[in-house]
Amino acid sequence: MKQNKNSNMKFVVALTLALVVIVAAVAVLSNKQESLPTEIKQIDVTGQPSLGEEDAPVTVVEFGDFKCPACKAWGEMIYPKLVNDYIETGKVKFSFVNVLFHGKESTLGSIAAESVYERSPDLYWSFHQALFDAQPVENHDEQWITPEKILEIASGFPEIDPTLLKEDMEQEATMENVEIDKDLVSEAGVSMTPSIMINGRMMEDPFDYEAIKAAIEQAIKDKD
Ligand code: CA
Repeated sequence: MKQNKNSNMKFVVALTLALVVIVAAVAVLSNKQESLPTEIKQIDVTGQPSLGEEDAPVTVVEFGDFKCPACKAWGEMIYPKLVNDYIETGKVKFSFVNVLFHGKESTLGSIAAESVYERSPDLYWSFHQALFDAQPVENHDEQWITPEKILEIASGFPEIDPTLLKEDMEQEATMENVEIDKDLVSEAGVSMTPSIMINGRMMEDPFDYEAIKAAIEQAIKDKD
């Protein structure tokens, strides 16, 4: 009788343990599924400024903001490697989509950049770079993107007509393009800047160049 009770207890304990293990395993598995960046969002970058071969196997999209210090840092630390390793070698086409998380200044910078892109597409990337270069290293939260500052930056480009750029800013002439970007940002579920998307997959850490390389290599393999 005593022995029986003991083995019953053992059975109950064993059963409980087994259940705990199963519940834990299910929890681990479902967590793992959540953390894998398996979700692919097809973002249409038609009409966006782009660098590299038009038919490159991989498309990398930066969702960025001229007002964002991390975007300036990304442009200095990661972007040159991407250009050298993948854009110039024809493997990656790179596009930039404006994000307006910093309000009016983000919008003004985007309107101006879209204006330059529309009127002189060849100058876009240099102007884009010049805008980021003008971002103050300290006190970047203070207002610096103003029409005056943008015209000052543009004066470094003899091909840019300052009168037309001023008009475009006053009339918000390229707001339609900025709105398209805004829609892409919501569609892609962008919550931080910069966000880097590789063939529809959002990178968890935009500063992890090894992970970016791995994602690009994988995307090239997937295409083959
Ligand atoms: Ca755009």
